[in-house]
Amino acid sequence: MSRGSMIDLHTHTDESDGSVPPAALVRSAREIGLEALAITDHDTLAGYDRAAPVAADLGLELLCGIELSTRIEAQPGGRRPPSVHLLGYFLHSAPSTGFREWLERMQESRRRRNQALVAKLQSLGVEITLSEVQAIGRNLTGRPHFARVLVEKGYVATRQEAFDRYLADHAQAAVEREEPTLIEGIRQVRAGGGMPSLAHPVRLPHADTEWLRSFLSPLCEAGLQAIEVYHSEHSRGDMERFAELAAEFGLAATGGSDFHGDNKPSVRLGTGKHGNLQLPYSLLERMREVRVA
Ligand code: AMP
Ligand code: ZN
Ligand code: FE
Ligand code: FE
Repeated sequence: MSRGSMIDLHTHTDESDGSVPPAALVRSAREIGLEALAITDHDTLAGYDRAAPVAADLGLELLCGIELSTRIEAQPGGRRPPSVHLLGYFLHSAPSTGFREWLERMQESRRRRNQALVAKLQSLGVEITLSEVQAIGRNLTGRPHFARVLVEKGYVATRQEAFDRYLADHAQAAVEREEPTLIEGIRQVRAGGGMPSLAHPVRLPHADTEWLRSFLSPLCEAGLQAIEVYHSEHSRGDMERFAELAAEFGLAATGGSDFHGDNKPSVRLGTGKHGNLQLPYSLLERMREVRVA
């Protein structure tokens, strides 16, 4: 099979939680012969913005994407609702100024949360400063970066222990931040000129077909246009099942490796985990047939 016909529509740079800088990611994509690459950093377009001129120089087709952290609508009186990732693809036009401003407001709330998280950790006797965490997390400093600092300083042995003991949603240092609901995320992507796609459905709180059907209905009403059928964490069976759901709901299928560089070494750019992905350019062509306006 010709590797030149492959695309990868889900990747992260070091502008969010990937390890590879945007320009280097574009060069790798070119080297392995990808025909199109989408950068879908968490809650920021900074990686795409930096990569775009490099891609243009190299003649690589680079697509503007994003992966939003959202929450399922809260149940009355319930615990903090589960986190859901939503991809957005800006295939026909650049993200609107309004969308960029909305992202900026979300980042502001993340910065406030990070300050509160430092204060809470300090009150628990953990010596940590915001600048230490920001040195590795830069413009998208988040809990994974706090976890790394806690490991480096010897407070915990592993990043997972950092979450379990301090950082997880209901752990002792937990601080809530404003996060959009999934429906709000879908609306913002649409209003900004993009195509919303439900990311890696295997990671949803339930992933059986019946549950997914009732989950998808209101999302489609809100403007969801696609679902990530192909992903490194999806088994063959998952991919078949999600492809059927996409057809049933009239959603486009999207796919990608979810490459994070050294931060997720088992996942390769373009080919996923143990080569479980091989996404043809026709996937992107079909996405382009979906009207976003
Ligand atoms: P933030 O956006 O800063 O709140 O961090 C969210 C990220 O932290 C998620 O995307 C996960 O990578 C990670 N994360 C959140 N909860 C946990 C957990 N319980 N265990 C491990 N990682 C987690
Ligand atoms: Zn990520
Ligand atoms: Fe994700
Ligand atoms: Fe991702």
